Amino acid sequence: MNGPPVPEVSAPGRELARSLLARCEKKQDFLRDELRALVEIESPSGDEAGLALARARVRERLSAIGIASEVEAASGALVFRAPLGATAGARPVLAIAHLDTVWPRGTLARRGFRIEGDRAFGPGSFDTKAGVVLLLAALEALAEEGPRGPRPIVGFLSVDEETGSSRSRERVRELARAAQAALILEPALGPEGALKTARTRALTPGEAERVDASLRGLAPALEGTSLRVEGAFDRPPLVRTEAVAACFELARGIARDLGFSLSEGTVGGGSDGCHTAPHVATLDGLGAVGAGAHAEEEHVVLSWLPRRAALLASLLISFP
Ligand SMILES: [Zn+2]
Repeated sequence: MNGPPVPEVSAPGRELARSLLARCEKKQDFLRDELRALVEIESPSGDEAGLALARARVRERLSAIGIASEVEAASGALVFRAPLGATAGARPVLAIAHLDTVWPRGTLARRGFRIEGDRAFGPGSFDTKAGVVLLLAALEALAEEGPRGPRPIVGFLSVDEETGSSRSRERVRELARAAQAALILEPALGPEGALKTARTRALTPGEAERVDASLRGLAPALEGTSLRVEGAFDRPPLVRTEAVAACFELARGIARDLGFSLSEGTVGGGSDGCHTAPHVATLDGLGAVGAGAHAEEEHVVLSWLPRRAALLASLLISFP
């Protein structure tokens, strides 16, 4: 199996993972309230005013944890580096989420944030504002626990993921090449929150090339007509390399320590994980448990949020 090098991994140990979970459980109100605040800032891809408000909200929260961030002019992304007591020069662990949603302005007036039992509904809640909120809670839990990260954490919150990351993909690749691992805060899979260890555009890059070549080789059947093929696979598939498998086994062990079981699955569709996986060990689907991404019934399961935040916090310090 080709792919990036398999990273050395070392879970934090049951005691520390459970301590992080206890901290995250105390953040249940923060997780819910911050999710509401972010959902209530409408930020469709390309809406500069809405995206600026979403970035400002997250910047403020990061700065309350003691983490400085900046907006990158070229990519439009909010980027930060949290040293967490790591040795200078260590390759960072990269955490990626996005602030844009597929929902146009006005969706909120029609279908605002609401809670029904254990579920929080709202445009962009599951994909992937809850992922951003999980990252904030995980960073705060780590800060409370005290500096102990073997590596710094670099966060990249893009504003164009839902339109194919055309503005940010080169930067994502560059950050991936410099990182030790990439954790992608896209929605989890299924009711138990499985991670996404493969994404099919086509099943393999070779298959994508074959499909691409055969489409481009099409000739018109009718005399006097012409055929032009435009477009391309905008993201490569996410291949379950040995590096991906190693990260998944790590995550599964941490989940076991935290008292739940974690499985993996293959999905269609792309994410920034497709851009990082060729360069660095990547784990996708680390966002919230819920359902209905890009659909009217989009929602997040609230009671899962502390466990997902603790899983993420533990993963962020699992690359020695
Ligand atoms: Zn997404």
